[in-house]
Amino acid sequence: MKLQGKSAAPGVAVGSIFIHSNYIKQPKETIIPAGEVDSHLNQYLSVKKEALKELEKLQLSAGKKDPKKAVIFIAHKEIVEDVIINEEIPAKIKNEHWSGDWAICQVYETVLSVLKKTPDPLISERASDFEDVRTLLLRLWYGSKNSGLGNLKEPVIIAAKELLPSDAVNMEKDKVLAILTETGGLTSHAAIIAKGYGIPIILGIPGFLEKAKHGQLAVVDANEGIVILDPDSSSVEEYKKKADAFLQDKKDIETYLDKECYTACAVKIDIGLNISNTDEDLAAAQYADSVGVFRTEFLYMEKDILPSEDEQFIHYSKVLECFGDRPVIIRTMDIGGDKNVPCMTMPREDNPFLGNRALRLCFSNPGIFTTQIRALLRAAVQGNLWLMLPMVASINDIRKAKEFISSAAAELKKEGKPFGKIKIGIMIEIPSIAIMADLAAKEVDFASIGTNDLCQYLCAADRMNSEVEDYYDPYHPAHIKLIKEVITAFNSEGKPISVCGEFGSDLMAIPLLIGLGLHKLSMNASAIPAVKRVIAGCIVKDCESLAERVLACITADEVKAVLLGYSKSRMHDA
Ligand code: PEP
Ligand code: MG
Repeated sequence: MKLQGKSAAPGVAVGSIFIHSNYIKQPKETIIPAGEVDSHLNQYLSVKKEALKELEKLQLSAGKKDPKKAVIFIAHKEIVEDVIINEEIPAKIKNEHWSGDWAICQVYETVLSVLKKTPDPLISERASDFEDVRTLLLRLWYGSKNSGLGNLKEPVIIAAKELLPSDAVNMEKDKVLAILTETGGLTSHAAIIAKGYGIPIILGIPGFLEKAKHGQLAVVDANEGIVILDPDSSSVEEYKKKADAFLQDKKDIETYLDKECYTACAVKIDIGLNISNTDEDLAAAQYADSVGVFRTEFLYMEKDILPSEDEQFIHYSKVLECFGDRPVIIRTMDIGGDKNVPCMTMPREDNPFLGNRALRLCFSNPGIFTTQIRALLRAAVQGNLWLMLPMVASINDIRKAKEFISSAAAELKKEGKPFGKIKIGIMIEIPSIAIMADLAAKEVDFASIGTNDLCQYLCAADRMNSEVEDYYDPYHPAHIKLIKEVITAFNSEGKPISVCGEFGSDLMAIPLLIGLGLHKLSMNASAIPAVKRVIAGCIVKDCESLAERVLACITADEVKAVLLGYSKSRMHDA
């Protein structure tokens, strides 16, 4: 039986299915006698306490590997303690005489149905966090154990209704060949975590758990989003070869991690690291030539109060010290759009991506902006700091930000506080400044192209809205032409230019970017080895003629076909 889903992470696997029942016994509607109300109320309180203990443990174990993952369990603890839910459940037990398990199930159901109907995928996908907490509470209510992804005996293909964040953190990832789910979005927490592990994932296979059996043989081709249950022997043979090749390829890619990055014709390409705020990000410092973007908004995200100047100084210094003489591009906070923070009250906006975001928000909150600039200037003593401004739309934006920087430096001087020299640069992610890149290049020391936003503003397609994902196309010829203009403008001024959006680590796009004259790319740590391998196979002259062919294309499909043809021909040459 052949089934189709959505590929969330590539790869091929052959193995037996492990049905992961994170869905425990479904409670039945039960009305309890008045005499049992107190015991159900007490049981609810002790289940909540147990749940908080389990979540605390998960938070600690996740936090050791990556503080960002620990945040998921902080959010789950908040759900357990949610005021409205904790009024509703006891009220249903007391007033309606619902059994505790039925009350938990139904009250969470009400929240879930609201979340799932929200058109914003980021909100609707948070439903899986509520689902995760409900499952935990019910499991504890029934006193049952987790089906144990942390204790797998042999390599298996995990099949679940939905992979929950706690499953993704708990699972013994070396024994997971692939993950298949009936539901779950590409940007759900669990998908993001599992993707980081390099495990093939297919989401959204309708009715999968009714069709698949525990222990059943399956082949998974997550490159195509295909699962075959009970495959015949020739398919098993075929896919075993593909799976072996996938694993071999994964091993080969890893060998590039600590290599210096040069093209086959010995041109040095600078590899930058995109970091947020995690120790895990810094663990990859030795494999990069620089920090291509430090997204400082993450310092503001996890807290109720604004980070102080000293607190920021400590964070920036840590990254600078870690990189020594190598450049560290620290971006001033990019809050707003999809990134809201609890420590700032922001009025609701109809179009937040077009609203008071990033640099604009800094200009309208001069105190907050100055605090960050002061922390950056002070930290600059520790290393090679390049300050980058996000969401720059005009030359005026650049000049205004420079005034803030000069005033902050003057203040520090007056106070006798030491501060260091910095370079000042901009993100090119709004078409208005991209079009004026030749003039912008005269105003700043460097720039980095933020293709994630540049593409959304250029194509007028929200980067978060899956309804318009076909319109959000980084291969759009206009996007590529604009990138070319920006690279040429900065190269002509002799100023460093890089790409730090996702397009910069898109393996198919890299030869094109090199052909357009780019010598610097920045990416998440997990992308580094594969990017270095692609670059090691590039010859600049070939990349330039590839770029010429791409620039002659008039549709995104043509662009993709040319790039795919090129990368396939490189694979055959290798
Ligand atoms: C970008 O827009 O490409 C970028 C790197 O910034 P962010 O993804 O943080 O908006
Ligand atoms: Mg951006």
